[in-house]
Amino acid sequence: MTGVTDRTETAGSPAPTPTDAAPAVDPRAAERSAVIDLAAIAHNVGALRARVAPAALMAVVKADAYGHGMLPVATAALDAGADWLGVAHVSEALTLRRAGIDAPVLAWLHTPGTDFAAAVGAGIDLGVSGWELEPIAAAAAAAGRTARVHLKIDTGLGRNGCTAEQWPGLVRAALEHEAAGRVRLVGVFSHLAVADEPDRPETDAQVAAFRAAVAVAEDAGARLEARHLANSPAILTRPDTHFDLVRAGVSLYGLSPLPGVTSADLGLAPAMTLRAAVANVKHVPAGQGVSYGLRYRTGAASALALVPLGYADGVPRIAADAPVLVGGHRHRVAGRIAMDQFVVDLVDPVPADPAALLGTDAVLFGDPATGAPAVEEWADAAQTINYEIVTHIGDRVPRVYRGDEAGR
Ligand SMILES: *Cc1c(COP(=O)(O)O)cnc(C)c1O
Repeated sequence: MTGVTDRTETAGSPAPTPTDAAPAVDPRAAERSAVIDLAAIAHNVGALRARVAPAALMAVVKADAYGHGMLPVATAALDAGADWLGVAHVSEALTLRRAGIDAPVLAWLHTPGTDFAAAVGAGIDLGVSGWELEPIAAAAAAAGRTARVHLKIDTGLGRNGCTAEQWPGLVRAALEHEAAGRVRLVGVFSHLAVADEPDRPETDAQVAAFRAAVAVAEDAGARLEARHLANSPAILTRPDTHFDLVRAGVSLYGLSPLPGVTSADLGLAPAMTLRAAVANVKHVPAGQGVSYGLRYRTGAASALALVPLGYADGVPRIAADAPVLVGGHRHRVAGRIAMDQFVVDLVDPVPADPAALLGTDAVLFGDPATGAPAVEEWADAAQTINYEIVTHIGDRVPRVYRGDEAGR
C-alpha cells in the first residue's frame, strides 16, 4: 500500500478551507498519528469477498473498528462491497445509523439495560441468546414494528449463545413472535473458539453442532436468510464454515489471525500505521542510562531518539525491545516506555547526522511492504496479539485517513 514516509497530503498539509470536501486535518496529526489507509480496507474487503463468495461479507467494526475509526472504515468497507456491518453493542450500531449508514447492522452483546426500543426503531438486527427475545419482542410491539433477530447457539465457546438443550424452545418462541408480526427470525449464528489453531478438532464439533441447530430451526419452520459462523481465522482456513455470511474483523484491517502467518501470506494489507515525529535526538557516550529505572544502558557511543508516544496512547509499557523505524533504519526501544514517550537507541548504524532526524517520522508499525515493522512484532514484544495492539491505540492519537478515492 502507500508509503509511510509520504504523508504530505495528510499530516503535513495546511488545514483545508471550509469549502473542501475532505475532512479537516487534525492539527495534532503532524506530531503523532495513526494513519489509516482506506484503500487497504477496500483491498481487504475485495480479497475476503473473493475467498468467501457466494457467501456475503459482514465487516466487523466494533471497538471503533479495532481502533481504526468506525465511520470511515464502515463507509469504505460498504463502498468496497461489504454487505453487512457487525458490532458488539447497540450503542455502536446507533452511532452508525446516526451517521446515515442504512446497511444491515447486527449487534450481539446486550444487557438488560440495552435500549432495545432504540435498536428496533433504527432497524438494527439483534443477536439473541435467550433472555433478550422477550424484551425485544415487547419493544417491537410497543413501537408497532417488527424486530429483526438472529438466534445465537452456543456450539462450544461457552460465552453467549443458547444451550442445545434450550434451543428448540427459543426457536419456537421466536417463531411464535414472528407469526404475530413482532419479530422476523432473520438468522442463526454462533462463534468459534479455536479457529486460529486449524489443527484442533473442536472446530469440527462446533460446525456439526451449528448444522444441527440450523436444522432444528428450519425443521420448525424458520425461513433463514443468514446462517453465519466464521470469524477471520475460519474465513481463511475453513471454507466449510462460510455458510451464507461471514464476519470479518481483524482480517478486514489487513492483520493475520493465524500465528506464524503474515498479512502478505494471506494477501491482506495492514491498514494502520502508527508513527510520530521524533521529538529530540542527541549523541550520548557508552553507558548512558535510559528512562525510568535505568534498566537500559547504551553499549557504545550512540544517538538516542525520543518518540512522543507512550502507554497513555496505548503503546504497551512492557514492549521494551520492540522495533521502530527511524531514519529508514530499524532500531529498538531502549529502556522503559513511559506515559507519553519512549527512547530509541540509534545503533547499527549510528546516524552520521542525528540532528537531521529531529521531526522526521518514527514508525512503530505499519505495512511491512513499506519497510515498517509489523504490528505482530509489537504484539510479540508485549506478549499479546495484534488485535490488542491496534484496539488499544488511544484517543490522544488522531486518526488520519488516506487512500479514500471517494474523497470523503
Ligand atoms: C469480534 C467478533 C468477530 C470478528 O472476529 P475476528 O477474529 O476479528 O474476525 C466475529 N464474530 C463475533 C461474534 C465477534 O464478537
